[in-house]
Amino acid sequence: MNNNNSEKDSTNNRRKFLKLGLMSSVTALAGTTLIKNIASEEEKPSGEKIRLLTPDGKMVEVDATNINKYPEALVTPAESRIGIPNRKFVMVIDLAKCKNARKCVESCQKAHQLDHNQEFLKIQLIQDNENVAPHWMPKPCFHCDEPPCVTVCPTGATFKRDDGIVLIDNQRCIGCKFCITSCPYSARIFNWGHKDKFDNKDIPYSPETQVPAAEGTVMKCDFCPDLLRQGKLPHCAQACPMGVIYFGDKNEDIVTNGEETVSFSELINNRGGYRHLEHLGTKPNVYYLPAVNRQVPLEDGFNVDEDIIDRYLNVPYVKNLKEQGKI
Ligand code: SF4
Repeated sequence: MNNNNSEKDSTNNRRKFLKLGLMSSVTALAGTTLIKNIASEEEKPSGEKIRLLTPDGKMVEVDATNINKYPEALVTPAESRIGIPNRKFVMVIDLAKCKNARKCVESCQKAHQLDHNQEFLKIQLIQDNENVAPHWMPKPCFHCDEPPCVTVCPTGATFKRDDGIVLIDNQRCIGCKFCITSCPYSARIFNWGHKDKFDNKDIPYSPETQVPAAEGTVMKCDFCPDLLRQGKLPHCAQACPMGVIYFGDKNEDIVTNGEETVSFSELINNRGGYRHLEHLGTKPNVYYLPAVNRQVPLEDGFNVDEDIIDRYLNVPYVKNLKEQGKI
């Protein structure tokens, strides 16, 4: 067998391994969820009565078919505090491939039912000064291992799980915004309300999807744990046409962008991986690969709405292009 074949086999094995690895923990975890899904919308009343204590202390009796209507792979707020066992999720963003296609942003907005102006993932254009080359930089929540947002939350609404994911339970959020001001990466947004129609009010709320969103609470990128429980990649990684976003498990040392599956440690060691603002000590679980040997001209990223271009006018390179009438 030549080297190419053995590399290909090893890649395929890794891909299977990742899938099986994710699925095995998912199956274990989905057990509780599936039991609760036995009662479907179409099911007739079983006649079996269950006694429940309401939040205001009253004892009520309900038919067994009327409880636990969480869709498959969607967990309750209490269950969402428990991470997926034995996982430590990590993301790697390859800046050399990003062309500001914005498919990641759009897919995330659709999945989380966000308005056009609400972004969990922001694409910035970075140019520190006029002597250096600018590059696109997608910026999600970094799911920090030392998250200041969790430390300052007075109600425990935002929390860090063992699998590395930082979530928000909007049923506990009082909208104080301490977390927004403490996040050094501006990863959080305040939900002032939805302009567009919010069409999914009937489904049960889960912090793992942040749907349905409550007005007056804080929201942010969640790494799509509902998809991870099904062994799938987050929406942004699935949607990117350039394979920019790798996602995987640090414990297994594997990440994939859906096309190629590689060793996480080799990828960041061989390509000079780094974390944004490392010196802050927040220990992000999102890594970047530098924008060297960029694969697509930067200008391709200007093929978007004018109001989006306007965001980048403070970048010297864009300012020059605008003044020359090139964009
Ligand atoms: Fe919290 Fe900001 Fe870190 Fe996300 S990036 S975990 S919101 S401090």
